[in-house]
Amino acid sequence: MIFEAEFESMRAADLRNLQSKRLAARSASVYERVDFYRSKFDEAGVKLADISTIDDITKLPITRKQDLRDNYPFGLFGQERGRISRIHASSGTTGKPTVVGYTRDDVDLFARVNARCLAMAGAEPRMTLHNAYGYGLFTGGLGLHYGAERLGMTVVPVSGGMTERQIMLITDFQPDMISCTPSYGLTLAQEFAERGVSPLDISLSLGILGAEPWTEMMRSEVDAGLGLKASNIYGLSEIIGPGVSCECVEERSGSHINEDHFFPEILDPITAEPVPEGQEGVLVLTTLTKQAQPLLRYWTGDITSLSSEDCRCGRTLRRMALIKGRTDDMLIIRGVNLYPTEVELVLGNIAELSPHYRLVVSREGTLDELWVETEVTDEVFKIVGGDALDDEVIAADEFLAGLRSRIKHGLKESLGVTAGVALKAPGSVPRSEGGKLNRVEDRRKLT
Ligand SMILES: [Zn+2]
Repeated sequence: MIFEAEFESMRAADLRNLQSKRLAARSASVYERVDFYRSKFDEAGVKLADISTIDDITKLPITRKQDLRDNYPFGLFGQERGRISRIHASSGTTGKPTVVGYTRDDVDLFARVNARCLAMAGAEPRMTLHNAYGYGLFTGGLGLHYGAERLGMTVVPVSGGMTERQIMLITDFQPDMISCTPSYGLTLAQEFAERGVSPLDISLSLGILGAEPWTEMMRSEVDAGLGLKASNIYGLSEIIGPGVSCECVEERSGSHINEDHFFPEILDPITAEPVPEGQEGVLVLTTLTKQAQPLLRYWTGDITSLSSEDCRCGRTLRRMALIKGRTDDMLIIRGVNLYPTEVELVLGNIAELSPHYRLVVSREGTLDELWVETEVTDEVFKIVGGDALDDEVIAADEFLAGLRSRIKHGLKESLGVTAGVALKAPGSVPRSEGGKLNRVEDRRKLT
């Protein structure tokens, strides 16, 4: 089903008109209400009269995460404090978090775009959602929660972590759908497998997974391990939280962006100039309707591309590819740019490996060293591992040496990087405990 067909399946020309009108109105409103934007407009010599169609968006200033930090906590609010009905924040790895405010209308929009996304991912009223996203300042839990209620689903607000309890509740409550990070989806799949529960006996048939970059390989593992069809959902707290875009279950190829509310551009990571459709670059989003904290051209740092191809589901909203990584996650190894998901793609083509991996980067003298830790599957382990301890690198023999050299060769061929490879026993690479999983240990930063 399509939750808001009048918007999600709008004719392209009508959508453009709506976006143009909304951009002009939003620009006028931030100019009037937000000091930060008024000075940005004035500095750049942008007049409100210059903003009449959506194409004029390129005249507007870019907003970066640092601007949110500089205006911490409420400096970018476009409404007086009394009209703010909710505040979320994203945990900064260093220093202060990034704050987001919502008016009552924004909270309503948050629920509606998440209801749209759940419906895109195959949900229907009366289904039950097991919501394993974290509740609290993080937007994931409450975002999906309100969306599911708006759609008419039953929500089980489990939140993240406590895997034992998650398994029990899924077994007892028989939900139709789960929301969690992809890495946590894998953790749950493995827990069920260890209990000897077949995917056929797990009630879940749909998944809405996101909040970290993932690949088709991980998707097939989650699909097979939990016996469901997982769709990607995308969002970020600065824009609204989850609900910016989602894959439809019909094609699961690119996430439909709710672009009547969040206008997307793809810009060159270095020059910040628009790139042609289909080409990769940084996703930049403008909130066309948000009131409490409207953002113009917010530089998400996420690398993706856009497509306006027709979709079988009947939605006309453009689609964005799975996020390849964040500009912040990009590793530079001896001058080669590399995203963890690219390593994942190479490992995914090798049948002897499980989907779990970790990258360790260090520096020997002046040279960067990349070390890829990956696990062999249970089947391979039974043949070659014998009784090696869990956390022990499996003893080398001819087979493992061959496997290691295939991985090295694959990494060199696809990514142009030379890496060390450590083959580990099943279960020894760190798993998600419920939240986002950090797969990179960059020891260069410590020295
Ligand atoms: Zn679609």
